Amino acid sequence: MHLNPYGEDAVKLAADLANRRPASAEELADRCRAAGLVVEGPATPEDLERTAVVLDTWEKVVDTTDEHERAELVNGMLAAAAAYPRMTDHVGSGWHLHYRDEGQPLSGVLFSLIAVGTALHLTGRGVHRLRRCAVTECTTVFADTSRTGRQRYCSPRCANRDAVRRHRARAA
Ligand SMILES: [Zn+2]
Ligand SMILES: [Zn+2]
Repeated sequence: MHLNPYGEDAVKLAADLANRRPASAEELADRCRAAGLVVEGPATPEDLERTAVVLDTWEKVVDTTDEHERAELVNGMLAAAAAYPRMTDHVGSGWHLHYRDEGQPLSGVLFSLIAVGTALHLTGRGVHRLRRCAVTECTTVFADTSRTGRQRYCSPRCANRDAVRRHRARAA
């Protein structure tokens, strides 16, 4: 893998895959590549299935508001997914860390990437910075990487929608 190894890119990829689940192994591989992941070898239907399980587990992390429970869920993912960190230059474009064993299928890479990336995001930026959009009918997940850490909506569109609604409610 090669996106800024285990920071916000990993959480953003997790959110992207969770918000719009890939329909095929090819789509999964393409979207990982588009996010900057170095995908070695073809993705298989098994990768797609396993990734769906990883994303289901990850959505539980998103939907937990209790921070201790959240940490426990992430720790469970880390225990199952991660190996000791090691330096690698496997694509010849710079040394970085992998938190997994060599030769993992794409789903194994994603599991470790999402677990470690989420842990680093929550410890580095703030444990509350992962949530769903505040608009009730919008279930979009996002990682809050804003300066203030008070992002409530997935997009400006949803923020506007809610502002209009609140305005109407006041006017009525
Ligand atoms: Zn790598
Ligand atoms: Zn939204």
